[in-house]
Parts: sequence; C-alpha cells; structure tokens
Amino acid sequence: MSVDVGAVSADVYVGGKILPAARDVVRKPARTSEVVGQVALGTAAHVDAAVAEAVGAAPSWAGMRASDRADSLEAAAAVLTPRIDRLAELLTREQGKTLWEARADVAGAVSVLRHYAGLSRALDTDDVFRADERGAVWRGRRPIGVAGVIVPWNSPAYLGFLAIGPALAGGNTVVVKPSELAPLALSEMASAVADCLPSGVLSVVPGAGEPGAALAAHPTVRKILFTGSTETGRSIMKAAAGTLKNLSLELGGNDPALVLESATISDDLVTELMLGTFAISGQVCFSVKRIYVHRSHWAALVGKFCDAVDRLVVGNGLDPSVSMGPLNNRRQYERVRGLLADAESRGGELRALGRKADEASWSEGYFLLPHVVTGLPDSAPLIAEEQFGPAVPIIAFDRDDEAVAAANGTEFGLAASVWSDDDAHALAVARRLHCGTVFRNVHRAGASDMTMPFGGFKQSGIGRMHGLAALEACTESQIVANYKDVTHLPRPPWAGD
Ligand code: NAD
Repeated sequence: MSVDVGAVSADVYVGGKILPAARDVVRKPARTSEVVGQVALGTAAHVDAAVAEAVGAAPSWAGMRASDRADSLEAAAAVLTPRIDRLAELLTREQGKTLWEARADVAGAVSVLRHYAGLSRALDTDDVFRADERGAVWRGRRPIGVAGVIVPWNSPAYLGFLAIGPALAGGNTVVVKPSELAPLALSEMASAVADCLPSGVLSVVPGAGEPGAALAAHPTVRKILFTGSTETGRSIMKAAAGTLKNLSLELGGNDPALVLESATISDDLVTELMLGTFAISGQVCFSVKRIYVHRSHWAALVGKFCDAVDRLVVGNGLDPSVSMGPLNNRRQYERVRGLLADAESRGGELRALGRKADEASWSEGYFLLPHVVTGLPDSAPLIAEEQFGPAVPIIAFDRDDEAVAAANGTEFGLAASVWSDDDAHALAVARRLHCGTVFRNVHRAGASDMTMPFGGFKQSGIGRMHGLAALEACTESQIVANYKDVTHLPRPPWAGD
C-alpha cells in the first residue's frame, strides 16, 4: 500500500470542476523536506463561486425527501469505504498522527456520514406538537440554507464530516474549507462525496484564513460550523454578525483531570490518563491538559504516570512500532517548546520521557518527546493556556474546593474528568465543573460517542455537536399552526361576532 505523491492535491472543487488557483506544498511533519502533495490556496472569489453553486443547488436539495438525501449519503459512504486504508496512510503522511489514529479518523468520518443518513430519515415526518378540537399544530425541522464548514488540522477527516454530515443530511448545501496544514485526505473525501450528490450541493475550497473569513462574512451563507481555536472563533463571530448567521462553534479547551482522594492509583488508571493526554501528541481539543491530584496520591500518581509515559515510542506515524507521531506544524512545535522553556525558567521540573524510534531522523521532523512537568505556579502558561501538544503539568491539591476552583479557573469549558472509585464523590465533583462533558475514569476520543451532545461552556464554544443535537443545529424549527377553529383567540370588539 502506498500513496502516489505526485497525484495528490487538495483542489478548489466547485460544481464538479477543479477551479484554477495558486498552490502551496503540503510537507510531511515527520520529515519536513518531503512534500506529500499540493494544496490550492482558495480565495474569497473561489468562495463566491462555490456559494453561487450552493445557492443554485439549494432548492432541489432542500426540497428532496430527507430519506432520498439519506440514500445519497449512504451511497457516498459506500464509495469512501474501500478507500479508508489508503486515505489513512495519506492522512498520516500529511498530519503526522500514527496510522492507527489516522484510520480511526477516516473510518470515523465514514461512519459519521452513515450515522446522519440514518438519523435524518425522521425529518420526513413532522411531529404533532398539539392536537385538540381547535385543530392541529405540527412541528418540523427545515434546512437553514447554505452552510460553511471550516475545519482544523488535528483530526480533519472526522471533524470535517462531523459538520458536513448533519449539514447535508439536514438539507443544506455546503461549502467546506479544509485547513491548509492537513487538507489532502479531507479534500479527497469531500470531493468524492460531492460526486455522489447533485452538482453544487457540496463544494471544497481549501486554503489558509482567506476562504474561511470569506465564508464567515458572506451575505448569502446562513450557517457556519467552525471547529478550531477560540481566537479564530471570535473573529468568525464578528464577521458573521453582519448577517446574523447561525453559528456552531467548537473551540479550544484546557481540560483538567481531577484525581480525587477516593481514587486508587492503579495501572488501569494511569494507562487511561496517559492515553487521554498523549493521543495524537496531545493535539486533541479535549486532551487532558492539566492533571490535578490529591496530595495523598501525589508520589504514586507521578511515579506510575511517568513510567507509563516512558513506554511511548515517538517517531514516524507510518512505523507500526511508533505510539506517538510528530506535531503537525512548525508553529505548534515552536509553541509547545516555548511553553516548556517558559516552564523551566519558572523553576518547573521537566521530565522528557518516552523513546525516540529513530535517533537519526529525529531532527528531520517536528518530533517532541512527551513531557511531564511538576512544580509550576498556577499562573504558568503551561497551566493557564491551551498547550495542544505532548507536555502536561501535574499539580497537587488538598481539598476538592481547591481543585474545582482551579479546574474552573480558565476561559475554557470543553471537557474534564474525575477519577475516583466512589460514585457519589465522583458525581458530586462532576456537577461542580463548568464544562460540556465530564468523564469518569476515562478522558479520550471515543468516550464521547456520537449519541452524546458535545460542545463547550464559556469560550470553548457555542452549541452542541454529535447526533440529534447537531442535526437540530443544522436545521430550523418550524411550527405549522393548522387551526380549524379560531374562536379561542382574543378578538377585538370592532371585528364583529
Ligand atoms: P485555527 O483556528 O487556527 O484554524 C481552524 C480553521 O480556521 C482552519 O481551516 C483555518 O485555515 C481557518 N481560519 C483561519 N483564520 C480564519 C479566519 N479569520 N476566519 C475563518 N477561518 C479561519 O485552529 P487550528 O490550529 O487548525 O486547530 C487547533 C485548535 O482547534 C485548538 O485550539 C483546538 O482545541 C481546537 N479544536 C477544537 C475542537 C472542538 O471540537 N472543540 C476540535 C478540534 C480542535
């Protein structure tokens, strides 16, 4: 199995045609001198063209029966299925994550499409909201219009389809904007899906910030589904205010894990905590980003956790012996290194753990060993900010109140976890955490399954994705009030009997 590098490009794909565009190269994070493919640098003009196609396709797509749309999405999923292994390899090359992680990303995207095909069939039937002698009131869900989907680079296939799936299934036409830093697998998948749908229903405009900003400000786009940083989320909200767009924002996080006094520091606990922290080199929106541990467990937790992290093997994600790939891009690599240097300058104790799979090629990519850091003040950026990389601080606490206050003390509120053997204790602490999801004794991708509404409190986002919540976020509620008798309504005297 191998990818034909020369042929791989993420194009502007509108109405079944590739549009001309300036291009940049996509480099392999595991060896930055190697080019994986090319990415079109989409512009505002490309967005205009894609939106014009989407507007043209909207009436017939929105007017179809939801179950016919669902059949098309099932057919698209069937087209993607035999490509999963090849796309996963491509994703590892462009994104850096291990092949196992890349396969979960791509296969997850295909299952998301099937999930929404199944869920959306119910949209064909309106609910009876109320029915009595005065008549019936029905409630249905209707498409919003043209939707823009803006995708980050960490899990591009899965996160892209988490938004494309409900948007299409809900009867909207869609323009998707992959990140320029990992555009190849998602662009191929989205273009293949577009070919299974009527022309103009789905278009792809890869590129840097420009096409994303153009979608957010576009007067005809009615809905934006954005997954990315809080900073970009804020600028999208501003741009979208001009036409009061419907927004779903899945933003950054600084997830705390709270290891309570009622926990047992078992091998299972530290393995789960390690997986939740270092999957995709920590580049997951809801990675464990801070570990708070009750002082009675400090020595045991730090010791066992470091032993578990030390078993990680860092290298090229295509190497099956590797358990952690490189960071995706130079900016992120420099950022995490900067946070570690800052932590050291503040007196933090840094432990660089794990093993290099291949010492000789280490400096050719954005490789970083997993780091565990102790002895930092709460104000240190590694604790207070989102690191989005393989470096985690561990902080001791004495009382639950202290841990809860620290956990809640950031602008973020995406997810958190409580680690405890005691149901009542775990639940009592969970209820005090200001975030959209609290896990118990686990904190990693997959634990928030497709049926569980996912999203953030505070500046981690607006709205909820997954399952029915996302289908509702991609449709408008409509009431049809079909009264047979209006005598119960207030009537002014001058209107007569
Ligand atoms: P980013 O905000 O830099 O970029 C995300 C996307 O927005 C990219 O496609 C980018 O090209 C585009 N973009 C850039 N400037 C834009 C603008 N002005 N207007 C519109 N679009 C613009 O984020 P990233 O670095 O790709 O991803 C990492 C961040 O995403 C982290 O903060 C992470 O926590 C967050 N994230 C959140 C979730 C979630 O579900 N909450 C999931 C994954 C990642």
